[in-house]
Amino acid sequence: MRLNKTVSTNIVLSVDSLPHNVINTPIATATEISMNYLQKLIPDEVLLKICHYVRPKDLCRLACTCKRIYEICEDNKLWERLHRQIYTLDYPLQKTKNNLYEVVSLISGPGRPETYWKKFFPLLYGAHHVSKDQQLSRQLQHLGRKCYGSIEEALNNKAPIILVHSGTYEESVEVNHQVTIIGTGIPGTPSETCITNTSKTIFRFGPQAAKSIIAFLSISILRDEASSSVGYCLDVGQDSSPIIQNCHITSKSTCVAAVHVHGPGSSPKVVRCKISECNNVGLYIHDGAQGVFEDNEISSNRLAGVWVKTQANPIMKRNEICHGKDAGFFIFDGGMGYYEENNVHSNRIAGIEVRSEANPTVVRCHIHHGFTGGIYVHDSGRGEFLCNQIHSNTFAGVWVTSGSNPTIKDNNIYHGEQGGIYVFGEGRGLIENNDIYGNALAGIQIRSNSNPIVRKNRIHHGKHGGIYIHECGMGLIEDNEIYGNTLAGIWITTGSAPILRLNRIHSGKQVGVYFYDKGCGTLENNEIYNHKYSGIQIRSGSSPVIRKNKIWGGKNGGVLIYNGGLGILEDNEIFDNAMAGVWIKTESNPILRRNKIHDGHEGGICIFNNGKGLLEDNDIFRNALTGVLISSQSFPVLRRNRIFQGGAAGIEITNGAGGVLERNEIFNNKFDGICLATGVEPKLIDNNCHDNKEELSEAIEEGKCLYQVSGNACYPMHDFYKCVTCSSTENLAICVNCIKKCHQGHEVQFVRHDRFFCDCGAGTTPNCCQLVPSSQSPTRDVTNNNNTQQHQNKNNNNTTNNSNRKRKSATSSRTRTTRTLKRNKVASTTTSNTSTNSASASNNSSTSTRSKTRNQRRNASQLDNENQQLEQSLSVEGN
Ligand SMILES: [Zn+2]
Ligand SMILES: [Zn+2]
Ligand SMILES: [Zn+2]
Repeated sequence: MRLNKTVSTNIVLSVDSLPHNVINTPIATATEISMNYLQKLIPDEVLLKICHYVRPKDLCRLACTCKRIYEICEDNKLWERLHRQIYTLDYPLQKTKNNLYEVVSLISGPGRPETYWKKFFPLLYGAHHVSKDQQLSRQLQHLGRKCYGSIEEALNNKAPIILVHSGTYEESVEVNHQVTIIGTGIPGTPSETCITNTSKTIFRFGPQAAKSIIAFLSISILRDEASSSVGYCLDVGQDSSPIIQNCHITSKSTCVAAVHVHGPGSSPKVVRCKISECNNVGLYIHDGAQGVFEDNEISSNRLAGVWVKTQANPIMKRNEICHGKDAGFFIFDGGMGYYEENNVHSNRIAGIEVRSEANPTVVRCHIHHGFTGGIYVHDSGRGEFLCNQIHSNTFAGVWVTSGSNPTIKDNNIYHGEQGGIYVFGEGRGLIENNDIYGNALAGIQIRSNSNPIVRKNRIHHGKHGGIYIHECGMGLIEDNEIYGNTLAGIWITTGSAPILRLNRIHSGKQVGVYFYDKGCGTLENNEIYNHKYSGIQIRSGSSPVIRKNKIWGGKNGGVLIYNGGLGILEDNEIFDNAMAGVWIKTESNPILRRNKIHDGHEGGICIFNNGKGLLEDNDIFRNALTGVLISSQSFPVLRRNRIFQGGAAGIEITNGAGGVLERNEIFNNKFDGICLATGVEPKLIDNNCHDNKEELSEAIEEGKCLYQVSGNACYPMHDFYKCVTCSSTENLAICVNCIKKCHQGHEVQFVRHDRFFCDCGAGTTPNCCQLVPSSQSPTRDVTNNNNTQQHQNKNNNNTTNNSNRKRKSATSSRTRTTRTLKRNKVASTTTSNTSTNSASASNNSSTSTRSKTRNQRRNASQLDNENQQLEQSLSVEGN
């Protein structure tokens, strides 16, 4: 209807919704005066009051009459009242570009029109109403609205939009045409609209449901003790793609899930829903169904939050899946899907479980605080796991087992209460470019015939080891950086045989790479450096191939082979280690070929305690102490090695050791080329010793004490004596010049030709050495006693330098033989009752502390005990 001031007409007939008192007033006379009054003289407040009684449609018509009435009809309060009255909504709704209904924020802001209540009013204008409230129904009907008692009834009347007013409705509906069903309350608040049932499915969507929308409803299957409930809250079948938004969904049903999505073409959009406290699975997607699931909370369900199986392929983004009594996501039997930025936490079983040929893509998810593992891939599971944050789980961050082969790439895996990644039971997988740190167990554990590819990861600052490979574990492990771990960088044990190459393994608090109990494998082209213990340890039947590695900067030795260790070391470069480059001891028998062992802060190779080994074509040079030391019943074969520029002798053999030395070239060493202690008789074949400096012999000829050449850092091999006068209860080794000068007139005995430093020069004997100025003598500070320190350091093998000498149960014989080996004069002697030479090689000599030092001196059996303790601690190391 159009009001026209030029035409005389009966206005009242059109303003049919006006109350009787208004209708009965004399304005109905339609004169120029009354029109003038209505348009100009009647106050705005009165007009507005009148408009409150006008139906929305007529209000729009009225607005067309003139500018003044238009402005009054735009009044925000007017439309707010209509909203509340008709829609019973406390807020306007709008529809977004994504076809979602959204509450309009009532907070005014820039760009928000003052008339927003009116603006959003038309959206629901075509709605039919469902209400249990008789009064509201009558009122709505009075306003000309269609109103029903149930959703089913409204659906049967083909309502396009159904507004379901607050209250509880028992429903079971089939949605077979496109419809929008909106609850007027916010779910979870007292005004919510609850749709319930005890035994049947509440909403079932068929192919004709098209893009139907369900919004702002609480949907619950209630428990019915009398009948077993087999209904779903929502059932989305084949070729059906409804939108379900802002609903609260819960189910006490005995059937599998609260929300059921199944069949080809089933593709709902589920957004901002809460699916929680269900007696079963929250969301179940299968049989090729798809769909988009965004911003939902799926929590506290008795089974998994989400099941995806049988070629289902949903897109799930930004959901929170938490506090479930089972897995967060369980993807199995060929299930797929794309999972992005989901927050998966605090679930009883794994955050994401992938089984039996399932193959999801999981990207940028946050998987944390699980009561077991983070991601669990098993029974031939697959999947791509990319850029996820996986942390603080009770078990390993990622488990891979039983033929599974996932790709685990670019993830951060940290602060787990167990390990980072655990591959076991024939697990495989590509593990690449992950940052794995701060886990309580190994960063990566590879066990029981598993064979993953581990590449370009950073594995660091673990509270345990870096990579632990055991029980016939395998794997290709390359180009990783493994550092700063509390235990060994890499452990390889119990028949495991991985290939490790191009890794950088460094700065660990124990060993770099640790082979024990038949650990094998190939270690090639790695950089192993800055470890607190040895760079590599090989023990107890382990037999790796170690090739072309650089092993350097260790605070201990380079490579330690002990307790029956085997293996082949080829073409390695071993340098700048604090102790010997290679130790071979206790029944070990490795092969060393073409290695360069140099610039060590102690000796090159040290073989003792029944060590064996074949050493061929190695270059051993510029080491601070003996190039190759062979001691205590060790019998290696040394062939064609070049030993040069050492800070002491080229080769020393002592303490009942022997072996075969064949065609070695030994030159430019500070002391003699080959030094043999009394009683030692190796097989010497065509060795070439030349240009060694022979500083010891020169010092003796010059009348110096040998201590002036050796200090207490090394043990020059020469003729040593004891002085019975100076040491009636103890045995001290004294060089020949000190015997002549300092102990002139004393009762002296020849001890033997062996490795000692001179105790007289060191200030250990009661007299004052006349050859060594007291400023050069070390202090006898007990707390600085080297021996003590060495035994405190459980990986310190240097104790052998002392113990070797003392272990020797020298047989008595004062015979003295002298042989000449090419240019090397080697004296070989044995005597009884060998002394301990200053086991207490320490700094600073002063008479006041000498007695202390003597008390510190150990007898042979004590040292044997200490050596055993050392052995034990070495065995424990890394375990
Ligand atoms: Zn001396
Ligand atoms: Zn003396
Ligand atoms: Zn002396």
